[in-house]
Amino acid sequence: MAELVFFSGTMDCGKSTLALQMDHNHRARGRAGLIFTRFDRAGQSVLSSRLGLSTPAVEVSDGLDLWDVVVERRTGGHRVDYVICDEAQFYSPAQVEQLARLVDEMDVDVFAFGITSDFRTELFPGSRRLIELADKVQVLQVEALCWCGRRATHNARVVDGVMVVEGEQVVVGDTEAAAPGVVEYEVLCRRHYMRRMNSRAAHAAALSADVLPLELDACPLP
Ligand SMILES: [Zn+2]
Repeated sequence: MAELVFFSGTMDCGKSTLALQMDHNHRARGRAGLIFTRFDRAGQSVLSSRLGLSTPAVEVSDGLDLWDVVVERRTGGHRVDYVICDEAQFYSPAQVEQLARLVDEMDVDVFAFGITSDFRTELFPGSRRLIELADKVQVLQVEALCWCGRRATHNARVVDGVMVVEGEQVVVGDTEAAAPGVVEYEVLCRRHYMRRMNSRAAHAAALSADVLPLELDACPLP
């Protein structure tokens, strides 16, 4: 029986590396798969991991019908036993429903990898639909760490060094109109997410004479 499995985690927890490993394991067993991704850090139509591995992938553009892609592959004489979906948080709910249909009607295994919530702590629509429809949701156990050493559970957006909690859900590349400034992301524990204390703010606070380094956790809420 095919399954729809959603592997969720924060950034930096090795999702893409695991996606590549999953593809390798199934290939090694003689199965044939198809890899989808969207907005990979390395560019279009590639699935890359921070460890330096990469493989070609189908870019999931707006409106791409994932069901149709698999049907076309099979019509062209290619086997598709499983599908790997990286950056699945960026897929639309309709695309996630197409994945569920591949599982149910074509017996294709779907392994989706993604972040559950955005920098505002709100669920991505694609991740929400995956949680609603998946046979299994698995939280990845490779732990990303906050600067304080605790398990990082939240993704923070940092613009010009300052953490922000408002703005467009997705800022890709140089869409400067959506968020002027240098946009970066940092994983934090909930405690430091809630206090809006990214590593730079913590470092600045530690250097400040007003705040003792050991009392960072006692800093007032913004
Ligand atoms: Zn922390």
